[in-house]
Amino acid sequence: MKLYNSLTREKDEFLTHTPGRVEMYTCGPTVYHFAHIGNLRSYIMEDVLEKYLGYAGYKVNRVMNITDVGHLTSDGDTGDDKMLKGAKREHKTVMEIAKFYTDAFFSDCEKLNIKKPDTVVPATGYIDEFIRVISALIDKGYAYEAGGNIYFDTSKLKKYYVFNDFSEEDLAVGVREGVEADGNKKNKTDFVLWFTKSKFEDQELKWQSPWGLGYPGWHIECSCISMKNNGEYLDLHCGGIDNAFPHHTNEIAQSEAYLGHDWCPQWFHVHHLNTEGGKMSKSKGEFLTVSLLEQKGYDPLAHRFFCLQSHYRKGLMFSWENLDNAAAAYSKLTARIAQIDASAPAASSQSPDDLRKAFKEAMDNDLNTSLAITSLYDVLKSGLSGADKLALVAEFDGVLSLGLIAAAKKLKEAPADEELPAEVAELLEQRKAARKEKNFALADELRDKIARLGYTVEETRQGTVVKKA
Ligand code: AMP
Ligand code: ZN
Repeated sequence: MKLYNSLTREKDEFLTHTPGRVEMYTCGPTVYHFAHIGNLRSYIMEDVLEKYLGYAGYKVNRVMNITDVGHLTSDGDTGDDKMLKGAKREHKTVMEIAKFYTDAFFSDCEKLNIKKPDTVVPATGYIDEFIRVISALIDKGYAYEAGGNIYFDTSKLKKYYVFNDFSEEDLAVGVREGVEADGNKKNKTDFVLWFTKSKFEDQELKWQSPWGLGYPGWHIECSCISMKNNGEYLDLHCGGIDNAFPHHTNEIAQSEAYLGHDWCPQWFHVHHLNTEGGKMSKSKGEFLTVSLLEQKGYDPLAHRFFCLQSHYRKGLMFSWENLDNAAAAYSKLTARIAQIDASAPAASSQSPDDLRKAFKEAMDNDLNTSLAITSLYDVLKSGLSGADKLALVAEFDGVLSLGLIAAAKKLKEAPADEELPAEVAELLEQRKAARKEKNFALADELRDKIARLGYTVEETRQGTVVKKA
């Protein structure tokens, strides 16, 4: 398999330290608010990568952090703590906010068929480990104390500037946001490992450390959580492209300084979901969440389909029109699968292996998911027997996770539109429009009317399902 490697800037042959085993790490969410569907684009593509590695025969150990402390509004160590901001916004404690949004994140992931990583570690659960590694970095001469904080000394490295030359746009939320010079730093690029004093409002959560009462920086979290759970040699590190610099650069700096050897040879970065105003973010424009999609009547898996239709290394433009197109294509696809007759005989001598080969070639070429979807359509068009078609769809969907077989089954069980009385069909249309406009009171009223005509309406992960009561 060839995978683009941000470290070498080339499509490299995918290799692991131990044959047949992948140690994989993913930067997790900062749980101060809901994830937006842009954040989730990154997690969808990482999920496909993990599942494809499994399909290709690897045993994958995937680790992820939950950032519940230490991530400031700028990725470059300035600004308020994001968690504290979230707590103030909602008049709750930081830990209440962390619990609520961690649960919300995994609930969104479930709706998008994103598998939970094998190990998930909240940063607040690893404070002793951060202190241990920071102490070792000080002992080795890579870190210093200044003004009450502990900084990593980037001048001690032969090579610090990994990943710092991506385009300005890609790194938009990196150090460039609200940069303010920190007079304590010996070098401009030094970064905080442990804070005891911040110019900004004080943290709610603080821990005793050899350097005083304080809290960890954001970057050290990922290094420590990975080194502890993936071991000293990581195979594959993932994140959104805005994490590349300074976050991943700093992760490499401190991990390699601590370990005394190379850490991770393969870096996978997902490019952004954009809106017309640029990179999608929580503070700019409409706050696009999975719940909002559901309220508007979309199946969250239509968003997954939308993401898989384009390459992860290209920016993807979100608009309601683009999502509508993806949702329509997704419905058509499931409808076609529902029409497959499992007992239909083969109509040609084509073998499942020919079609499987096309799918693998697409995925082996830097995870080309849109071409993999084309190979799925080719299965439907092929002369394979009905049973073979269904088996291949299920096999590919084990990787793509579009819920295709389940969606087709639901469709088969539901009466076809033409079987619905005209009055029910009309009310359903009205209800759909009401949901799109977020008029849920009207939508409920229409559901009751439909019920009085003898039909139940249920919102499922596969969309609206109507059945005879
Ligand atoms: P955060 O919760 O801010 O720490 O971000 C979680 C993940 O989402 C990180 O891997 C980010 O790089 C990624 N991310 C942030 N914004 C976007 C976006 N607009 N499109 C895709 N990924 C994003
Ligand atoms: Zn990270």
